[in-house]
Amino acid sequence: MKRVTVFGSTGSIGQNTLDLIARAPHDYDVVALTGGRNIARLAADARRLGAQVAVTAHDDLLEDLRAALAGSGVAAAAGQAALIEAAARPADWTMSAIVGAAGLAPGMEALKHGGTLALANKESLVTAGPLLMATAARHGARILPVDSEHSAIFQALAGEDIAAVERIIITASGGAFRDWPLERLAGATLAEASSHPNWDMGQRITIDSASMFNKALEVIETREFFGVYPDQIEVILHPESLVHALVGFRDGALMAHVGASDMRHAIGYALHWPERRDLPVARLDLAAIGTLNFRAPDPARYPALRLARDVMQRGGLSGAVFNAAKERALDAFIAGRIGFLDMAGVVEDVLTRMSSESGLIDAEITLDTVAHVDHLARIRADEAMQAKAG
Ligand code: NAD
Ligand code: MG
Repeated sequence: MKRVTVFGSTGSIGQNTLDLIARAPHDYDVVALTGGRNIARLAADARRLGAQVAVTAHDDLLEDLRAALAGSGVAAAAGQAALIEAAARPADWTMSAIVGAAGLAPGMEALKHGGTLALANKESLVTAGPLLMATAARHGARILPVDSEHSAIFQALAGEDIAAVERIIITASGGAFRDWPLERLAGATLAEASSHPNWDMGQRITIDSASMFNKALEVIETREFFGVYPDQIEVILHPESLVHALVGFRDGALMAHVGASDMRHAIGYALHWPERRDLPVARLDLAAIGTLNFRAPDPARYPALRLARDVMQRGGLSGAVFNAAKERALDAFIAGRIGFLDMAGVVEDVLTRMSSESGLIDAEITLDTVAHVDHLARIRADEAMQAKAG
């Protein structure tokens, strides 16, 4: 029996993870499931899978969760401390699938107790990559990538020497607006930005795909996870989303990972690693697909990619600044306060301003310093948006 915990179990990655677990219930002992405001789903999943504890991130929902779990034998808990407590419960495999910087602390806690952390929460590596990797090493824990591109790279690297890697190419679908004329983008609506051509994902990552902020995060994630240099990482547009990443070696070979756009592949790979087991994903009919397309991303359309380079060059806590400013700008876009194209301007503004504040982004990376610059970057982002509005 594998003891498993799923952070963010009510979300898109979380539900795909539970789908795999529920297909082989006798193989898993579910320790903790966590969610946000969707108490009905959290409670129903915790009951059906016989979890020890279900945790909502929101203190005010504890009574609702208790009521929903009454008589089930599943304990109910709420709030930040309860999330950390859930991460400290012994587990062999923990899925980190909370969205945003909020995923960092529970993942860090899980690493301190060993076992495997399946990392969907790319923000953890963007905000605190060196800290996360060092914590895993110190406690004998293992981090396995779940982002489709990073799982693909990881698989292409199996049995290879990282020193023989020349470059890593991650693909991007181009998101909802890849074929829109540039002048139309400023007026893009929330509904338009929230529908992805190929992947079915949570709303925030879907909008980040349209703006390429998701790919910007993934470039930084690649650098932090695989330890390659920034100029070894390339992004290519691939509208079909079937080739997830390619690794180029010093002898000129390119190893590509090809598969259906179904996150259960990457999740299942991390769940069963180092074995490969049957997974319920579609098998590709290459003859029916016929053609795969690739093209260079247009820098004018996707300023987020340039900002990712900037972050990698600055290093230190600039990833935490970048991510927090992005999250705040995304909140404002979702709330209808700023336009689609304004998001990159806000992030650039905050990054430039905070990088010039002496000692700020160069401080040692700890959970406290990450939380500090995260908090400050959100305030700076609000200031930048107010200045623009006023
Ligand atoms: P989602 O919005 O569908 O789900 C997010 C989950 O996190 C939910 O369970 C929600 O309740 C919980 N949550 C949200 N805010 C929280 C907070 N402040 N504290 C505690 N819990 C909170 O998101 P998703 O699409 O499943 O993405 C999850 C993570 O996986 C993100 O980091 C995303 O970038 C990454 N990812 C997702 C996909 C995908 O296909 N959806 C692919 C690759 C990577
Ligand atoms: Mg991805």
